[in-house]
Amino acid sequence: MPQARLPDINTQYIKFTNEAVNSWKSKNYESCLGSLFTLNGMLPEDYRVIISNEEYKKKTSEQLMLVCPGCEKESDRFKVTIKHLMLKYLDSILVGKKYDDFWICPGCNDLNKLSKTDMIQDRRKDPGFYQVSPVPPIKHDGLLDRRKYHAKFTLWFWTYMGEVIAQMAKFRDDNWTKENIYGDQDLIDTSAEENDTPKAS
Ligand SMILES: [Zn+2]
Repeated sequence: MPQARLPDINTQYIKFTNEAVNSWKSKNYESCLGSLFTLNGMLPEDYRVIISNEEYKKKTSEQLMLVCPGCEKESDRFKVTIKHLMLKYLDSILVGKKYDDFWICPGCNDLNKLSKTDMIQDRRKDPGFYQVSPVPPIKHDGLLDRRKYHAKFTLWFWTYMGEVIAQMAKFRDDNWTKENIYGDQDLIDTSAEENDTPKAS
């Protein structure tokens, strides 16, 4: 098929990126969501951003580091051994439960109570992109809610937009030299986008 007969995806990327930003600015949330989902839909399946609160929580909390109260070594929350242990009688009365979660510090082998451990975000991986986003906030009626909603939506908007743009960049990078997979490499030229698209920050 001649290249010129294929749909021009690049123009659509630019169009819907602009549309998404403009409708976010003018608080046209339905149009904003529609544009974002269209952008995502134009990406090949493997690159699409998934919307799931559960997945988002899982991926972002993978960055959580536990700080050992004993030796101060930082350990990945999902790589340490967690033990569900029976509490001492007095402790169990104080906290109102029989069992609690403990983790073993790989540095000093101390057994620490998970709920009493300081946790920090692993800064080394920032800014992170996870190919997943939380679900957009739900709009309720009422004047008071409107301002709150915009603030919530804005936060969500840049999270989702950032993820989609990161996937676009990844798609471009992955295929930059592989001319024959997606056809002409000029097909995903985003040079115009680089000037027009505000960066998620
Ligand atoms: Zn330790």
